[in-house]
Amino acid sequence: MAGDDKLRAMKLLLVGGGGREHALAWRIRHEMPEVTLIAAPGNPGIATLAICVATAVSDVAGLVRLAQDEQVDAVIVGPEAPLAAGLADACIALGIPVFGPTAAAARIETSKAFAKALMHDAGVPTARASMHTTVASAKAAARQFGAPVVVKASGLAAGKGVVVAMTLDEADAAIASMLEENIFGDAGAEVLIEEFMTGEELSLFVLTDGETAVPLPAAQDHKRVGEGDTGPNTGGMGAYCPADAGDPSFTWRDGHLPHGVALVMDTIIAPTLRAMRERDMPFRGLLYCGVMLTPTGPRVVEFNCRFGDPETQAVLTALSDDAPLLRVMLQIARGERIEPVPVFAPARAVVTTVLAAQGYPATPRSGDTITVPDLPEGTWLFHAGTVMRDGALSTSGGRVLAATATGGTLAEAQQRSSALAAGVQFTGAFFRRDIGWRALARGA
Ligand code: AMP
Repeated sequence: MAGDDKLRAMKLLLVGGGGREHALAWRIRHEMPEVTLIAAPGNPGIATLAICVATAVSDVAGLVRLAQDEQVDAVIVGPEAPLAAGLADACIALGIPVFGPTAAAARIETSKAFAKALMHDAGVPTARASMHTTVASAKAAARQFGAPVVVKASGLAAGKGVVVAMTLDEADAAIASMLEENIFGDAGAEVLIEEFMTGEELSLFVLTDGETAVPLPAAQDHKRVGEGDTGPNTGGMGAYCPADAGDPSFTWRDGHLPHGVALVMDTIIAPTLRAMRERDMPFRGLLYCGVMLTPTGPRVVEFNCRFGDPETQAVLTALSDDAPLLRVMLQIARGERIEPVPVFAPARAVVTTVLAAQGYPATPRSGDTITVPDLPEGTWLFHAGTVMRDGALSTSGGRVLAATATGGTLAEAQQRSSALAAGVQFTGAFFRRDIGWRALARGA
């Protein structure tokens, strides 16, 4: 298979236009320099690696037409929205290989109620939870658990649908905002009241053909806007890889899969994939597992049906240069079986620091001109909220760039990532200088 892919220059369509897709575009071109890469819609960073076509990720019919017109060999889908809208289903119906699950399988992310029921039936360790459509029953459930308690909108809420309530008053307010004020619309018409779990979190990406699953090195995200993990939640202010959350059983040694990861594969990933097959919705693509390492073992916080952002920027650059990520992704896209090897070991430490726009996450300003520094060896500036305006690179979103750097140690990667971020100039730019702080405080 690898030979075939190398013999012939392929044409691929990459769907998305954020930092995650910029990192994917970089990795695809790194592994297959001859590839003809089309990105929809892409962004100014991706445009240095791919031909960008202005088809929105929400335009499923337009994306399918683009794939057909261009006769691409495969479609690789970054974000969840087109998957939820049936992009993979449409490609499969036309015989176009696609990396990403069907809309039915994507429900593992798009319906937290579905995911919770699946985990419950499959005996997968996760927080206890109950589902509610009325304020009274939701409030009663919150009281059964007691504070702190977690309130979650079941549907897709752009990463904002989770409230970790430290008091019952906070829980009540969150319940009312979702079920009465409908702040998330239909996505919040059903809420989960969930047991609060303690522990540190890891993001584990798993490539799967629906049956066999291969993990990538784990990363740790930083959701809070402020240093020391303070302030409101965001889409993610930075990530590092590899991460072990302070548990030595998750530490990579000599390129061997850590046994903590093997345990997660056996107790969480395998039964989840089996349950999906039993429901006639095999999950093919990338399964993102947010795992909490609790005192009673690893438990699932959430599943996503695609690569995470900004973890992807750290994970893909931490892989060894010859790791066959794209080859495995293309096998999955074609519906072929994958092998449980190779082991995707981290080759280096990476820190990615998100440069955000003033006012993020509430009301980010945009339209500011960006100046970028020269990139030293082993660094990347992945574009997320950028646009070319009158020939100048400008801000166009809350998370603007992901300043990514390798290091011989995590401390060095953090220092290089922060230095790179500090070299980027735009009005109101801010970033966290402490990505990886938990690991560094432990002396990693
Ligand atoms: P989610 O969107 O489900 O990943 O939730 C967002 C964040 O809320 C997670 O990254 C956790 O930090 C936190 N969280 C979610 N569920 C729980 C839980 N049951 N216990 C503690 N924290 C949680």
